[in-house]
Amino acid sequence: MPRQPFALTLRMWGFAAARLLAALTVGFVVGLAADRVFLGLFVTLLLYVGWQLLNLFRLDHWLRHRSLMDPPMLGGIWDDVVTQVVRIHRRKRYHKQRLATVLRELRDSTAALPDGVVVLNAHGEIAWFNRMAAPMLGLRGRRDIGIRIDNLIRQPEFVRYLAAAEFSVPMLLQTGATQETWLSLHVLPYGEGQRMLLVRDVTRAIRLETMRKDFVANASHELRSPLTVITGYLETLATDPGLDPALAPPLAEMRRQADRMAAIIGDLLVLSRLEAKDSQVDGESVDVVAMLALLRKEVLARPQHPAQVTLTIDTQDRLMGDEVEIHSAFANLVDNAAKYTPVEGSVAMRWSRDDDGVHFSVADTGPGIPADAIPRLTERFYRVDAGRSRATGGSGLGLAIVKHVLQRHGATLEIASTEGRGSTFVCHFPPRRVVAANGHS
Ligand code: ADP
Repeated sequence: MPRQPFALTLRMWGFAAARLLAALTVGFVVGLAADRVFLGLFVTLLLYVGWQLLNLFRLDHWLRHRSLMDPPMLGGIWDDVVTQVVRIHRRKRYHKQRLATVLRELRDSTAALPDGVVVLNAHGEIAWFNRMAAPMLGLRGRRDIGIRIDNLIRQPEFVRYLAAAEFSVPMLLQTGATQETWLSLHVLPYGEGQRMLLVRDVTRAIRLETMRKDFVANASHELRSPLTVITGYLETLATDPGLDPALAPPLAEMRRQADRMAAIIGDLLVLSRLEAKDSQVDGESVDVVAMLALLRKEVLARPQHPAQVTLTIDTQDRLMGDEVEIHSAFANLVDNAAKYTPVEGSVAMRWSRDDDGVHFSVADTGPGIPADAIPRLTERFYRVDAGRSRATGGSGLGLAIVKHVLQRHGATLEIASTEGRGSTFVCHFPPRRVVAANGHS
């Protein structure tokens, strides 16, 4: 609002004071003429106060019925007051309209979102939701406002997710009459205890993902039988006494490649099976110490292996998990260490326990892994050195399997490596996975 210059205000009030003074002078002169000075002054003041009261009354009347009436013409200082009131009112109306427009635009744009949005207050009650959220979550207009969200979405996994207060990743929820719809629910905390629930229909993505998994599983399965036949014939041919010696090397190479193919198919099937299962495994108590001792023996039984393969057992604690999966993960890590470490090198395995849980580590003195490759190691078919991996018969799927198995056990994989010095792979299992040697977990 443009401020009135001080000089103008001063002039106006000066004019008002001059007017009062003039009126009093007239009253004084008339009073003097009639020899009634005080009466003259008194009547003048009375008229002045009466005039001001009348103006005040008109101003009050206009303020009360402002929307229906034009501003009154009161003259003098009163006109200025009226102008100020009109200005303040206009400014307020402008801001109100602007705020209403912004709010409407915000509401319309949120309502038009293809995703569902539900605003929850600090008690988990629904404060507002957009149009899309209603059909997705089965909310019923205004009636569900103020109702706790976990009274409306009662699936235990959602109730657990909401209570856990760990919202870094969205959760998946299966809904619909025939459980045909997949929703991704993501809680975003904001303000003081408020939360926003974002709901997205991911049925299509899940279906595509399922198709992809099924395809890989089926293709691997279908490839296995013909490959078994080929391997069988290759074996028979290789042992045929009448075989032309010139054919021996290519036949041996064909067998090596067939074995590699069989390893890849085997690993793909393992991965498919892991993906088809529930996200977390309960399992049974696994005797890791015995398993590791056997793995060490297997490495030492290889025709070529690092000179030193040690196993340090710091705890007799067992692990709560799936024995086959755990074996597959640990065997992959030990196999890699043995594969990539030269015969003069060493591999050190260790099974230990601390406050964070139990840990399996494999350290080798192999070629190491470049730092930028480490985050990508668990990707399927990722190889730091494709030539070397192929030469060692690697499928490029081993660490992907390890990652999957660990995920299903709530464990994490830590990889540390220095190029030219060696690598260390550590599996960290949380305390809830520990079965203490004395029988208590
Ligand atoms: P592969 O079957 O090729 O070994 P993995 O998934 O087990 O596949 O490993 C992925 C890649 O990680 C390997 O190709 C190799 O380059 C690298 N790698 C894994 N373990 C080691 C190790 N102990 N030392 C050096 N490189 C390793």
